[in-house]
Amino acid sequence: MSLANGRPYIAIPGPSVPPESVIRAMSRGSVNIYEGEIVDLTLACGRDLSAVARTAAPVAIYISNGHGLWEAALANVLSPGDAVLVPITGRFGHGWAENARRLGAEVRMIDFGLASPVDPERVREALRADADHKIRAVLAVHVDTATGVRSDIAALRRVLDEEGHPALLMADTIASLACDRFEMDAWGVDVLLAASQKGLMTPPGIGFLWVNDKARAVRRRLGDAVSPYWDWAPRLDPQMFYHRFGGTAPTHHLFALRAALDLIVEEGIEAVWHRHAVLADAVRAACIRWGEGGPLRMNAPEGARSNAVTCLYLGQDRAERLRAWTHAQAGVTLGLGIGMAEPGSPDAGGWFRIGHMGHVNAHMVLGTLAVIEAGLTACDIPHGNAAVQVAAEVCAAG
Ligand SMILES: *Cc1c(COP(=O)(O)O)cnc(C)c1O
Repeated sequence: MSLANGRPYIAIPGPSVPPESVIRAMSRGSVNIYEGEIVDLTLACGRDLSAVARTAAPVAIYISNGHGLWEAALANVLSPGDAVLVPITGRFGHGWAENARRLGAEVRMIDFGLASPVDPERVREALRADADHKIRAVLAVHVDTATGVRSDIAALRRVLDEEGHPALLMADTIASLACDRFEMDAWGVDVLLAASQKGLMTPPGIGFLWVNDKARAVRRRLGDAVSPYWDWAPRLDPQMFYHRFGGTAPTHHLFALRAALDLIVEEGIEAVWHRHAVLADAVRAACIRWGEGGPLRMNAPEGARSNAVTCLYLGQDRAERLRAWTHAQAGVTLGLGIGMAEPGSPDAGGWFRIGHMGHVNAHMVLGTLAVIEAGLTACDIPHGNAAVQVAAEVCAAG
């Protein structure tokens, strides 16, 4: 007998749960895409998005998922022969690096493995070795969604400045924006990437690129050697509103985004970060307790754990069995592990992830943890006791 009938819950690290007001905002007819409401709404969204990213820089909006943004960011600054430096903390850095390689860049990777944040000192060494400044940009992922590892982006700016290296600092906050604290200007980020479907609580389909003056100057030097669709210049300074999106605006995604930003503005970004921090602490407290009596452990080391996503090891096929149980028996879909074990290896089904990003509250997180505990029990996976109790205590303390 299944206990899954009722409202299903998606606890995967993106797309996250869209708020009801966001879903409702999309349920309407077409509008004029040249003037009127959509123009004002887009400009207001841009201002609010820059406030969320803690920057005075403007934002270019693309009809694109995160993979497209990687290409957009690179297409505006790379010339043939340029190099990029990519510190990698999981899977997503590899994706961005591959994108750069296919665009003709010389890619210099520093792979920190699957369970460590970026070590800025190793980035320093790579910058020092680049005496003729071939490196045009450092491509850093703030939170790697596969490993749950969060890196210190401000430390990379300090290293760039201390070495007097002119490379742009680009940060991928697709998993983390509006979940983990992020300060584009204070941390010295030149180009920032985020997509709609994670902390920003909007269905997948639009992405955001904040670009500061230094990055815009690099792009200007390329003249018309930038592919028209990815070019951020007309999106930032359009001759007609139509050019802001390289064509027809994603009207309904913008309506949805407006509703999502209304929620963030009303709550306040500091409160949004705090909510994520407490709920993530609750998840971590439960994980520590489960691990005391069984194989479960968090992948990311202490101090580098994201407030948006937690990647967990159970070993063997246990994570796959757990996920199957929570989905079929309790209506909760957990994230699968990606890239943590070789396909076909004994631990291939041994990893899973909990998304706790965006429109999440205590009842959603505590419910998910209680369902995981039920699943661990039902699947005969040994685990420590009273994990949900300690998570509840974290929430109670706020
Ligand atoms: C989700 C994600 C991506 C990829 O975004 P898509 O929208 O799936 O293309 C890239 N980087 C990070 C850090 C992500 O979390």
